[in-house]
Amino acid sequence: QTDVLSQIKDIISQKNVELLHLQFIDLEGTLKHVTVPVEKLDDVVEGKSMFDGSSVVGFSPINKSDLYLQPDLQTFAVLPWSVEEGYSEARFLCSVTNPDGTLFEGDTRNVLKNTIEKAADHGYTISVGPELEFFLFKTDEEGNPTVQVHDNGGYFEPSPKDIGERVRLEIYRALKAMGFTIEASHHEVAEGQHEINFKYADALTAADRSTTYKWVVKTVAAKFGLHATFMPKPVAGINGSGMHVNMSFFKDGENAFFDPQGEDALSETAYSFIGGLMDNIKNFVALTNPLVNSYKRLVPGYEAPCYIAWSASNRSALVRIPSTRGMGTRVELRCPDPSANPYLAFAAVAAAGLDGIERSLKPVDSVNEDIFHMTEERRAELGIDSLPGDLKEAVEALQNSDFAKRTLGSHVYEEYIALKKGEWDSYRLAVHGWELENYQAKF
Ligand code: GLU
Ligand code: MG
Ligand code: MG
Repeated sequence: QTDVLSQIKDIISQKNVELLHLQFIDLEGTLKHVTVPVEKLDDVVEGKSMFDGSSVVGFSPINKSDLYLQPDLQTFAVLPWSVEEGYSEARFLCSVTNPDGTLFEGDTRNVLKNTIEKAADHGYTISVGPELEFFLFKTDEEGNPTVQVHDNGGYFEPSPKDIGERVRLEIYRALKAMGFTIEASHHEVAEGQHEINFKYADALTAADRSTTYKWVVKTVAAKFGLHATFMPKPVAGINGSGMHVNMSFFKDGENAFFDPQGEDALSETAYSFIGGLMDNIKNFVALTNPLVNSYKRLVPGYEAPCYIAWSASNRSALVRIPSTRGMGTRVELRCPDPSANPYLAFAAVAAAGLDGIERSLKPVDSVNEDIFHMTEERRAELGIDSLPGDLKEAVEALQNSDFAKRTLGSHVYEEYIALKKGEWDSYRLAVHGWELENYQAKF
């Protein structure tokens, strides 16, 4: 700890850091921060920065509003774009604590830490490789986002067609300067859609990086006068944006999902993990797919799943097992989207897999046919169920789930359900463009 702190102090003086942003995330995974002069570093490290929890979505009631920020020293990073501007700023991601120093149960970063501990009780560490897709849109004269894409490239298309490549290059540089290892960067299938992949890491680091990634992508895009969005389905009729979650458990330094003697070189643990995902998916999909809009992505034909099935290779399935074996053996869950709070999403996925392992579940048979083009009868024959069709259904399943309550803790569980019910209600009461288009002239 003191070693890390003295390294941080060295960087602060080398880079002439003037300001520190103390960052944390609210219930929805939205990044927040308060900025303090660098002279306050010692107080900051001691967790003495107080804020008003009653003004943060899903946090504390007005009568118990004082909360504190405990920076995680591993997350210290100088902001690359501040250096460009000739002065320097840095940030810490923080955990939220109560006035007595205990971890605040409404902080979703702490929810993930609890799941990590549960896995550790079984001897597992959790490794996560998320893949967050996004769209770049033009802005109008007032700087507001439009739904006009700014390139017409397709999957893996290079420039000059993909002018987004220049934006991606800047994002790549910024992420790298902040300590990311980048695996690949490419244009995605839809016009204006992109993906930059960073290396897998332990679950907390992966969630921290997902949060940082979303912030960096938006910040860099804005410098080009563009709006980056992680909204799951911004344009109907073309692919939406997913956040595939690749996960594996390690035990004693070995990948616990790999077994060269097992069927398909997968271990019993891997099969039980898959069983746990399949069994609990409806209990937690409101966490991995949190918006009204999320369910407009989970429809047939756009590489996003809508049926509860797993497969070794099938991109129409909910759970896929990428072909890598050995240390890289992993399970890919394809329904999550990047509007999810990554701390809650990773906690839910890991806890569901762990639940499968605890109960020694065996998954139903895998489905290697294209499920999108299957008849309803064939799906019924194979016993393939569907994911919830809308947020309402997903939130009801969450509300009826003991698994969800255990995983989230009662504070987050209750706040989340209240938030999402309110969201559904506001959607239900609004009159949408589609209704006017289809009904106004006709009736
Ligand atoms: N964009 C697709 C989705 O909504 C995923 C495409 C891919 O396989 O990377 O999940
Ligand atoms: Mg992709
Ligand atoms: Mg993928």
